[in-house]
Amino acid sequence: MGCFHIIYLDNSATTKPCGKAIEYMNKALCDNWGNPSSLHILGMNAEMAVDSVRNSIAKFIGAANKEIIFTSCGTEANNTAIMSALHRKNRGNRIITTTIEHPSVLQAVNSLEKFGFEIIRLKPDGNGIISLCDLENALNDKTVLVSIMLVNNETGAIEPIKQACELTHRLAKNAFFHCDAVQAFGKSPINVKNLGVDLLTASGHKIHAPKGIGFLYCSQKTHIAPLLLGGGQESGMRSGTECVPLICALQGAIEDLPDLAKQYKTAQELCDYAKEKLVNNKIATINSPEDALPYVLNVSVNGYRSETLLHFLERKNIFVSSGSACSKGNVSYVLKEMGKSDKEIDSALRLSFSRFNTKEDIDVLIEQLISATKTLRKA
Ligand code: PLP
Repeated sequence: MGCFHIIYLDNSATTKPCGKAIEYMNKALCDNWGNPSSLHILGMNAEMAVDSVRNSIAKFIGAANKEIIFTSCGTEANNTAIMSALHRKNRGNRIITTTIEHPSVLQAVNSLEKFGFEIIRLKPDGNGIISLCDLENALNDKTVLVSIMLVNNETGAIEPIKQACELTHRLAKNAFFHCDAVQAFGKSPINVKNLGVDLLTASGHKIHAPKGIGFLYCSQKTHIAPLLLGGGQESGMRSGTECVPLICALQGAIEDLPDLAKQYKTAQELCDYAKEKLVNNKIATINSPEDALPYVLNVSVNGYRSETLLHFLERKNIFVSSGSACSKGNVSYVLKEMGKSDKEIDSALRLSFSRFNTKEDIDVLIEQLISATKTLRKA
């Protein structure tokens, strides 16, 4: 795969590990392979490396060191945050979330229904945005957890998390606010104190670290229970020997990030360029809201099935997604919830960008989509 040029426009599914992530990972594998819990010097070196990454992440999101718990992925961090509601059932049994969360939130919340939790699932508007009024109406004294994502993985829609946190803390004194920020972390600046979240999830492989590393921010005043029990690593919050090489790789990926505000502007230009070309050439209609995170662009190439297009493009070494990576051919529940028609949903493509994409990539994509609409039979 490395020896020919590919155009990778599926960065919301995963990203190519960057040079610094690979370098730091290799260095840890070769030179720092001790167990961070060992008392000897090899252990201490490994522990120091882990703590140094913890410091960097804490600084990056405006948290304290103690508030960062390393996990194996975003899914584990989401599950840890949500399943902890089980230990708060004496305070109330209401959980509020949305119908457009990632499956790692939706499925975890569904599983709590069996334990007697009442789940309120807020529906988005046509732009994929959750109504603060709906949230306000749903909040009560029995609410123990609210979980709303920062950026939707299929459309890039940005949810009003700061306002949602304010409402939650004002109207539901027993509730923790959890935010799945997997698609926002490393793309748009995040300050957990400014947002007001109690719990926040991030994942390394969306920002050019390898797969297998994520973290949960858990504010000092938020008492949750661990999902994994054992040796008491991560201050007892996540047992299991820390994967030092992947943690170091995450450090490399974070150090390699460009200035986020500047890069956001560049991504916006690229996204606008793609939108303009797609619309002006009458190739597609846009499903993402106007003010979405510019790293994600969901479109419908009307009349053509997503999967057919995806494989057509794949043969030209252009990689896109027909929805989220997790949905694997299932119709998009996110677009459905936004009220999109079956036709629009069946022909949806998700283009997701990274700092390594260029306007030339978009030009080639457009050229090939035009070719596809001339070559392929309409569905
Ligand atoms: N949350 C969102 C919004 C995601 O997009 C993803 C992955 O696509 C996850 C959670 C899960 O992250 P991970 O792949 O690290 O388990």
